[in-house]
Amino acid sequence: KAYTKDDIRRMIAEENVEFLRLQFSDVFGTIKNVEVPVSQLEKVLDNNLMFDGSSIEGFVRIEESDMYLYPDLSTFMIFPWATDLHGGKVARLIADIYTADREPFAGDPRSNLKRVLQQMTEDGFKSFNIGTEPEFFLFKLDEHGNPTMNLNDKGGYFDLAPLDLGENTRREIVLEMEKMGFEVEAAHHEVAPGQHEVDFKYADALDAADNIQTFKLIVKTIARKHGMYATFMPKPISGINGNGMHTNMSLFTEDGNAFFDEAGELQLSKTAYNFLGGILDHAANFTAITNPTVNSFKRLTPGFEAPVYVAWSGSNRSPMVRVPASRGNSTRLELRSVDPTANPYLAFAAILAAGLDGIERELEPTHAVDRNIYLMDEGERKRAGITDLPDTLLAAVNDLDEDETIKAALGSHMSRTFVDAKRLEYQAYRQEVSQWELDTYLEQY
Ligand code: GLN
Ligand code: MG
Ligand code: MG
Ligand code: MG
Repeated sequence: KAYTKDDIRRMIAEENVEFLRLQFSDVFGTIKNVEVPVSQLEKVLDNNLMFDGSSIEGFVRIEESDMYLYPDLSTFMIFPWATDLHGGKVARLIADIYTADREPFAGDPRSNLKRVLQQMTEDGFKSFNIGTEPEFFLFKLDEHGNPTMNLNDKGGYFDLAPLDLGENTRREIVLEMEKMGFEVEAAHHEVAPGQHEVDFKYADALDAADNIQTFKLIVKTIARKHGMYATFMPKPISGINGNGMHTNMSLFTEDGNAFFDEAGELQLSKTAYNFLGGILDHAANFTAITNPTVNSFKRLTPGFEAPVYVAWSGSNRSPMVRVPASRGNSTRLELRSVDPTANPYLAFAAILAAGLDGIERELEPTHAVDRNIYLMDEGERKRAGITDLPDTLLAAVNDLDEDETIKAALGSHMSRTFVDAKRLEYQAYRQEVSQWELDTYLEQY
């Protein structure tokens, strides 16, 4: 919604808003916020609110710590649930980060996505549309409000109550989302016990990324109200499905969906095939962005509906990219490797850059794989041109570090911060000794 400053002044007065929260995301996708009393409204609206960025990990050097927040007025929202001490309300605005010299800050993932989207328009496209399918688990909180590993229910895919005890929580999540302007298309129990999925309407990449951040906040807030803890961690429990965030995407021009061509093979356009070619070509290299945690790689293992190989299919669900059946303006590619720990601003920038590179280089995708890849042996996979996704965070980061296209999509500041931080994260993990190692080696050696 294109709000003016006056719209915002009016809504704040009418709804008795007492606090304003300015939100932004760091390079790891963590939402940060600066909250000010509503007396600071004019300063906020005039892009004059400052904060010290030096304490935020991976943000800035000390000497350039003063940052300005430039709120995006279209993201104004009053939290339906939050009330302050006086019963007043709290509103939020998502902000871009500017330096003290009033330049977009290179370490701001949201400004960076805008930059990549701008490059896309120079290639003749109007929008990059994204629809995601985030999944999460609901665990019980203990009597002190700390998370436990006890699942909330024993339900499975599309189950109903009483097996699905998360149903009420999920319903309230959906209702709160609607109050905040989301159009929820589906909400259901997922395959694993205690696991859920909520799908909301696709949007342009920038709004879609903002929506994911807001969605996670809503899910966590409402779960807590119900005595539960929501986690988007990719693989909280071994041996059952993990949390993915399937990402459906399409490019639009003034004339509509550029992936659709009535006369094309599978009714897909040359643009769609070249975009797909770019995705497959860069897939291993953007995996560190779409699957950025040590735990992400516990999900990308065979047998749990998550991809392990770089391949695509027009029908079968096992590959990394699937082409859902809808055509016309709903023609899209579904990338199934992404998980919800991805910073959505960085992930969409990286995926878009990969696809646009495919269009520019007219890359042809390998042949579609319409059989179950997990039943093929290594030789068969090799003959079919199927390669592997990286199997650890370290391998993924090393792949990313070799790919100039993907690094350019993050900008040099963020690609450097990201690669360095993720190498350290992997080394910290490597120093730990796990239960599996003790069970396997302690007595044998
Ligand atoms: N949970 C699965 C994953 O990890 C996806 C299951 C599904 O949506 N079909 O990606
Ligand atoms: Mg789904
Ligand atoms: Mg799902
Ligand atoms: Mg899906």
